[in-house]
Amino acid sequence: MVEKCFIPTSLAEALEIRKETKARPLAGGTDLMVQYKQGQGITPVFPWPVMIISSIGELRGIEKGEDGSVLIRALTTPYEIANCQDVPYPVREAASRMGAVALRNSATIGGNIGNASPKGDLPQPLILLDATVVLKSLDGDREVLLDDFILGSKKTDLRDDEIIYAVRIPKVEYTHVFYRKIGTRRANAISKLSLSCLIRVEDGAVTDFRASSGAAGPKVIRSRETEAILKGRRLEDVKSLIPEVLDGWNRAISPHAMPEYRRNTTRRMLEHFLLESVSASSECIIH
Ligand SMILES: Cc1cc2nc3c(=O)[nH]c(=O)nc-3n(C[C@H](O)[C@H](O)[C@H](O)COP(=O)(O)OP(=O)(O)OC[C@H]3O[C@@H](n4cnc5c(N)ncnc54)[C@H](O)[C@@H]3O)c2cc1C
Repeated sequence: MVEKCFIPTSLAEALEIRKETKARPLAGGTDLMVQYKQGQGITPVFPWPVMIISSIGELRGIEKGEDGSVLIRALTTPYEIANCQDVPYPVREAASRMGAVALRNSATIGGNIGNASPKGDLPQPLILLDATVVLKSLDGDREVLLDDFILGSKKTDLRDDEIIYAVRIPKVEYTHVFYRKIGTRRANAISKLSLSCLIRVEDGAVTDFRASSGAAGPKVIRSRETEAILKGRRLEDVKSLIPEVLDGWNRAISPHAMPEYRRNTTRRMLEHFLLESVSASSECIIH
């Protein structure tokens, strides 16, 4: 039984319904249907009105802006993201490792963000890239950093008259990039830990360095303080600064389960990324 179910066919209609009834958006339903299931073969019971948004065409598609940014609308699936070369490498890679084939064709980026699980695969590389969330309501649009929009485990700053319209990834230039998800299997496994890193080297100096980790705290971890240790430093000095970076990173993460395992594994991955970046002679993906 569903308290009340709406099926809007346009964004305008969806925003009206959202404002009037506060109905919760249901996109692919791969989180909501599981969270509220009553048993095998029994229709889930939702304690609030629901709005099935999957037929709203305005919420689909990926668009590259003239400034090099990439707009991924809310109903875009992991399969579409993984196969779009305009999407930066770590986000494509994360999308390609979500669930199994059926899930990658039915889940959505809007749902992955709306669910705000610390183990969700897409927020981690998106936060590395300083992505923003575009939110729409009848009162207008707002655009906020995804890192600020996700408040904690399963908590977001979504207002009850808003819909996630899209995620915008600004143009980010890097010379070396890394993405790794640790799960029980290569795909079709919830992340035990994930890490993305990027570094930009220009004229022998580090002009950008970032790292973000998923499942290592109540939300995706970025440590701007730790990132600042390498910014502006000569590439030949990076090796000697690695212990300081690893110490900073260790202080930033706060895994609640298997903390030693998660701390050691992220430290090793980060160290591997930095050592490989220092020795790589040209731009590359670090594996
Ligand atoms: C078998 C299985 C395997 C899975 N494997 C993975 C995995 O490997 N990695 C991973 O990250 N996740 C995984 N998940 C979780 C889930 O598939 C993802 O979080 C998915 O991206 C959710 O998208 P959805 O469209 O199905 O969300 P829904 O279930 O439709 O919605 C999830 C939440 O987001 C809100 N929401 C959805 N769209 C919007 C919108 N446009 N505006 C505002 N709020 C919105 C909903 O109200 C709800 O609160 C798995 C789930 C299952 C069942």
